[in-house]
Amino acid sequence: MNITFQNKNVDYERYSRQIISPSIGEKGQEILSNLRILQIGVGGLGSPFALYMTAAGIKELTIIDNDVVSLSNLQRQILYDEADIGEEKVKVAKRVLERKNSSITVHAHKDFVDENSIEKYIDNQDFIVDCSDNLETKFLVNRVAVNHGIKCVIAGIKDFYGQILTINPRKSACYQCIFSEPPQDHKSEGPLPVIGVTPGILGTLEALEVIKTALGLPNLENKLLMVNLLEFSFNIIDVIKSEKCICSQ
Ligand SMILES: [Zn+2]
Repeated sequence: MNITFQNKNVDYERYSRQIISPSIGEKGQEILSNLRILQIGVGGLGSPFALYMTAAGIKELTIIDNDVVSLSNLQRQILYDEADIGEEKVKVAKRVLERKNSSITVHAHKDFVDENSIEKYIDNQDFIVDCSDNLETKFLVNRVAVNHGIKCVIAGIKDFYGQILTINPRKSACYQCIFSEPPQDHKSEGPLPVIGVTPGILGTLEALEVIKTALGLPNLENKLLMVNLLEFSFNIIDVIKSEKCICSQ
């Protein structure tokens, strides 16, 4: 196949296999190469998400996580290996990701994400992606996305099960349209059972959603994808934006 490329800003050799996709092309690759993404959490979901976004050739990835690598992480958090135990996750992640693709910028922040701290990172972001392991953060990421008009992908996992939703702020249903926020005095459930493959698949689907949403391809707006890896079922539930929700105020 002979293709004449016009745009000098695109690395044709590196991304040739996605550029020849009729759904992406030269123009699509240029869109991807300008994306700035804020990633909350770099654990089980965040490892494959960051790896695939970096490989796809985005412009800038900002990763925030407050944790250090521990032995029990290695079963599912595939960015890390035994030599990284005790190190800051964001520091290791930045090193691994920059080695994978030196043309993208990785900003790494060891920080606890809350209502105030997250404000420092949202300027000029095209997407905010939840790769956290707790409900409070998912609701927070959703609120920030809705309030600041940033496109958003949120996934959750437990054991062999996962769910994922994409939010086009104020246009499509948000996370809070579907799920009710846990009460303030809600205690987290402690360690949940997780098969390592489950966040592997859901984190990869989050990367796919960012790519498809950025390119205007069919995505999971107003659709909640429910994944059951025990039965191998992928079900899409149509969801409706609530008139009473924060995203409609
Ligand atoms: Zn809503």
